[in-house]
Amino acid sequence: MSSVEKYLQLGYRGIVIMSTDYKERVNGYKVEHIWHNAACYDNKTGQPLKLEVYWKIRYDHLQVRISHRLLRKSAISQEEYEKLLHEFGVLDGPLFHQRKCLRYYEQEKIRKEMERLTPICPMCGNPMQMKHQESDALPFWECGGYRNSRCTGRLQISTEERMRWDRLWIALRQDRP
Ligand SMILES: [Zn+2]
Repeated sequence: MSSVEKYLQLGYRGIVIMSTDYKERVNGYKVEHIWHNAACYDNKTGQPLKLEVYWKIRYDHLQVRISHRLLRKSAISQEEYEKLLHEFGVLDGPLFHQRKCLRYYEQEKIRKEMERLTPICPMCGNPMQMKHQESDALPFWECGGYRNSRCTGRLQISTEERMRWDRLWIALRQDRP
């Protein structure tokens, strides 16, 4: 998941990421916490801005939930923005849009592979979901119908299978700035 795309969706452009802070936690789900110092333009007003943004990305098996909080937003001068642009480079230039199209097809392929590799619950036939043990963060399969039907179907994940999933997750996420 590219956070540049998220900035564009939020109505910003000319995204410059000046610094990134990153933490990952596993607590049933895999959650990434990301803090950005960014500069950009506001699409509506054309005003250059400096932003401090906190992103939370939760991987709930095949679903990715992204939320964010704007911690600080301040107007800067065009000169200051251009200085930052020269220092760090803009992330949503023409190359970004070209890569975005390519990336989309690659990600679709990875998602299809993930769907193909997701087992069916041996007890009820629902697709299963990958969860992580709180004690050691090791993944296991839990019935996807757990919340509704309380089906307790569970499957272990072999080391080989876990390594294959890790590779897929890395491939799916590798364009994060
Ligand atoms: Zn089940």
